[in-house]
Amino acid sequence: PALIEAAHVTAGYDNRREHTRLIALRDVSLQVRRGEFLAIVGPSGCGKTTFINLIAGFVKPLEGSVRVRGEEVTGPGADRAMVFQDYALLPWRTVERNIRFAMENRRGHVPKAEQAERAARALRLVGLTGFEKSYPHELSGGMRQRVGIARALVTEPEILLMDEPFGAVDAMTREAMQAELEKIIAETRQTVVFITHSIDEAILLADRIVVISKRPGTIREVIDVDLPRP
Ligand code: ADP
Ligand code: ADP
Repeated sequence: PALIEAAHVTAGYDNRREHTRLIALRDVSLQVRRGEFLAIVGPSGCGKTTFINLIAGFVKPLEGSVRVRGEEVTGPGADRAMVFQDYALLPWRTVERNIRFAMENRRGHVPKAEQAERAARALRLVGLTGFEKSYPHELSGGMRQRVGIARALVTEPEILLMDEPFGAVDAMTREAMQAELEKIIAETRQTVVFITHSIDEAILLADRIVVISKRPGTIREVIDVDLPRP
């Protein structure tokens, strides 16, 4: 069975004041296999973020179901970690505290010594060694985004949800980080759902690419990239 299974999902947002409902996704069905790297592309506003938020458990479907390992998603869980488009770092905590906070707030306690080790490794991976004591406001947008990525990696989730993780990163750093991400995923065999604006990036990284269309926000095409994983 698929690790993630969305079946006939419709999702949207209620505007309570105006008593209207905006449908962001309509009747979307999609399966993600264990260990797969799935990229989602599509025009702005087509519902990519909404879809990944359904898997994360931050948004609930109006109709249909989203299941992980056959179980209905009812909220966030330790098996899924999200890299947010807007980083979502805690501004009053240093880079290192932001990263360790992610491990402290999980079931399956990570011992202090291992926390330090994992944090150091994650920071090395995103090229931010030496910035442990910096605060988010002292960093550039691209650097903050890299902290967000490190924070998700450090918890070693079975499912990694990434919403344009390299959107704020400059082109040169992006290439290096794409290569790092490929290495990490090959090693950990995590399942990845990855939103990107760049079809080139999708082809470079993904096993399969899903295109969501603007209206009515349904899946238009599924492309199997069909390249063997390294
Ligand atoms: P993309 O994911 O394509 O970069 P964004 O996520 O920034 O685009 O936004 C896509 C659309 O969703 C935009 O029109 C934006 O205004 C709208 N949007 C995003 N978040 C919210 C929100 N919290 N409330 C209302 N509209 C939102
Ligand atoms: P994408 O990530 O593909 O840009 P989104 O999932 O962000 O698309 O948005 C899909 C639609 O839902 C858009 O019309 C957007 O304006 C709307 N939307 C997204 N988030 C919210 C929100 N929190 N409240 C209200 N509308 C939203």
